[in-house]
Formats: sequence, structure tokens, C-alpha cells
Amino acid sequence: MRSLISTLCRLERETRPTDPEVSAALARRYAELPTHVRTPAQLIGRRTAGCEGTHGVFPRCDFACRPCYHSKTANRVRVDGAHTVGEVDAQMAYLRARRGPGQFAQLIGGEVSLLPPEDHAAALTAMWRHDRVPMSFTHGDFDYEYLERLAVGPDGRPRFPLLSFAAHFDTTMRGRRGLNRPEHEGDLHEHRRRFCAMFERLEHEHGVRSYLAHNMTVTPKNVGEIAAVIRDCHAMGFRMFSFQPAAYVGDQARWADDFRSIGADEVWAEIERGAGVRLPFRALQMGDERCNRTTWGVYVGNRYVPILDDLDPRDLAARDAFFRAAPRPFAFAPRPIVAARLARAFGRHPRDAATGLAFGARFARRLGTDALRHGVRPVTFVMHRFMDAADVREAWQLTRAGRTSDDPRIAETQERLAACAYGMAHPDRDEIVPACVQHSVLDPNETRVLADLLPIRSRRAAADGTRPRRV
Ligand code: SF4
Repeated sequence: MRSLISTLCRLERETRPTDPEVSAALARRYAELPTHVRTPAQLIGRRTAGCEGTHGVFPRCDFACRPCYHSKTANRVRVDGAHTVGEVDAQMAYLRARRGPGQFAQLIGGEVSLLPPEDHAAALTAMWRHDRVPMSFTHGDFDYEYLERLAVGPDGRPRFPLLSFAAHFDTTMRGRRGLNRPEHEGDLHEHRRRFCAMFERLEHEHGVRSYLAHNMTVTPKNVGEIAAVIRDCHAMGFRMFSFQPAAYVGDQARWADDFRSIGADEVWAEIERGAGVRLPFRALQMGDERCNRTTWGVYVGNRYVPILDDLDPRDLAARDAFFRAAPRPFAFAPRPIVAARLARAFGRHPRDAATGLAFGARFARRLGTDALRHGVRPVTFVMHRFMDAADVREAWQLTRAGRTSDDPRIAETQERLAACAYGMAHPDRDEIVPACVQHSVLDPNETRVLADLLPIRSRRAAADGTRPRRV
């Protein structure tokens, strides 16, 4: 009897549409946002506290991409599992305390697959333990054996119900096995396909599900190939296609081309050309529009259908109703729990429920009867524009001094940093900084300190570009 009561109590708590701790963390976050981004579309402080990332946890990488956002000294730091796990644990504990539970956090640094699988798994476990939903960032050039050892413990049981990876594939990269210097984006399709196939096999053999994102750095050279990448790869298994226009940040020796000759609208137009439709990005906003654009939607066969149309006032009313009625984030909660939370949320707001049902009917019409035949595949398109290190350094200095620049470009940089959607934790200094500040201002010194703390042991391994031994 007692156990039945405790199960019912737990279910009651889990299916609540709001959680007091989450609500308090989101309210704090919203209060920190500058007024220019407090629009009805803003997700930060209402659905999420923002994305999080690790820093200084494994700076080393065995590729030599152009550009590379890491500092010159990153490859002088040896991969050290104990350091990685200890740092990840401290950073995540701090983020948990400041930003509440259930946030997305990126296990990012150099190349994550240089960590032995046991250490990689321990880092992910620490992130889950602090109520983060982790995503590992990789160049994707590892084998199934590595993935299996990461996903499955020595007892043969899956360590995680879900693995989330963001894989970087594009022609700015140097060092991939069998394709050291790709000339065209299409040359990489075989590697993209192979990467997705490993995760399909993992699910088939061990029941571990995955969420895969495809990251592509955009330069004047490959901007014209974006559309073909989307058209050729949208059905491979990636759930997100994220495009990052190159910025002048990180190792100066790796800068190439005139990165600033392409603008945000040009890149987004190419993404739209690949998706085959206009991609409405003003219905939902993460931080500042000059940093991030996002469209959520689904593929029905080869046809992409965005979920919200930012030009349709009825869709915007449905978004507002959803924010009002269901303020709790649902990411990765089991489907029955999500359904129960939604039912309870809309049960309290019958008028919003009617708006939601009308939206559902409209969306079903947009999907068409093809959806019954083909099913739907959720895919999100993202553009994230990092800023140039020189601008960020100047802007950060002024912000720290409580001043605003007279130079419109630097003033814009200050505004974007204030509304940042992607933070990195410094528990020792009791602060969370924008990833732009981390890479532009803090990384150079941080990696120098780490190079002293964790020097490379052998001279051969220290040579840049030398591939450390893998499992
Ligand atoms: S400030 Fe930098 S890291 Fe933050 S959202 Fe904007 S581009 Fe991204």
C-alpha cells in the first residue's frame, strides 16, 4: 500500500505542467535578458534557460580544420580522463545550481572521441547526474567499436537510454581517414552516411536510441553547396542541420578566405533553397536574432513542413497559448509523461486548449495525406553566427566596465553578448560567460595553463596533426 502511494505521488509530481524549481530558474534567466530580446517569441527564460557547453575539459583534436575556434596551444594539452570528468562534474554542478534541471549541455572541447570510451561515458554520466541532457561534439571519424564501448557497459547493458551527438562534416576540415582534404561537400556524403549507420546499428543491436545533429561551418567557398547537402542528406538520420558562418576566432594560423563576405540572409537563403520552402524563424527565438535563427519542422517524404508560420497570426496565437498553458520544457521526457503533462496543462486552460486544437487541425492539413503514407521525420534547421574575437574582446571589456561603445558594431556585439543563448560555466569565478567570450577572451590563457598542467608526454604525440592511438 505504501509503495502504491509513493508511486502515485511520484507520478503526480512528474506530470505536473510546472515545476517550482524550473519555474524559478527560468524566471531568473528571463530577468537577466536585455529588453530588446524580451519578445513574445523568446524561448530563453520561458521554455529553456539556454544551451550550455563545457570548456577546458579536453582541448586536444587530431584534425586541422580551417578555421578552428580553439587556441593555438590546444594541441599541447594531453587527453586526461580524470581531468575531463572532474571538470565536467564541477561545471555541470554549477550550471545545475544556477540554471535549474533539464537543460541541454554540450560536451565540447577538442575531439571528444580522443577520450577513451570509459572516460567519455563517465563525463556523460556526470552530466546526466546534474540533470543536464548531454550532447557530444565530434568530427565523427571513429568506428563502431568505439561507439559500442561508449554506449554499453562491461556488463553488456546499455549505460544510457539515449546518446546525442553533434557531428561536424564539411570541406573546411582536414584529417579525416580516407578523405584528408575534401574538395566538395558531396565527397563527404559517404562519411555522413556511415556515421548515421553506426547509430542505427547501435539501436538495432543494443536498443540505444540516438539524436544526431549535423554541423557545417560555412565559408564563401562552400556556401553554394549548403542546399545540396540538405537535399542529399536530410533522410540519412540527422535530426538537426546546424550551420555556422565562419568567424575570425581561435587559431589565427587557420583563418582563410574573406569570412565576412557572406551575410546571414545569404546563408539562410541557401538553407531555404535546400529545404525547398521559406523557413520561418521569427516564431520562436533563442537569444538574439543576429546570433541564432531556428526553424522546427518535419519532412513528409522529401517535402519539408515548418511547424509554425511566423506570418500567420493564428500560429502565433497558438505559440502564445502553448507558452501560457505548458511552461515546463518537455525535452527527452518519456512520451506518456509528456502527454499527461500536456493534458493537465490544457485542462487548466480550456481556451488555450481550443487554440491548440485549431492549430493541430491546420498543421495536419499542411502535412497532407502524404503523412499517412510516408510518416513524418522531425528535422530542425539552425544558423548560429559566432562573432569575431577582436570585436568580442573590445565589447566584453566595455561591458565589464559598465560602458557602451559608440561604435555601432561593438555596441551590437555587446547587445548580443548580453542576450547570449550559449553559456559556459566558471564555478571558480562564480559566473557563466557567453561561448564567444570563452573562445575569444578566455581560451588562450586557459589552454596555456592546461598545457603546463597536462603536458603531452611523448614528442611524437606532441606534433600537431599526429593522431593519438585510439581504442
Ligand atoms: S553571443 Fe556568441 S555564443 Fe552567445 S549566442 Fe551569440 S554568437 Fe552564440
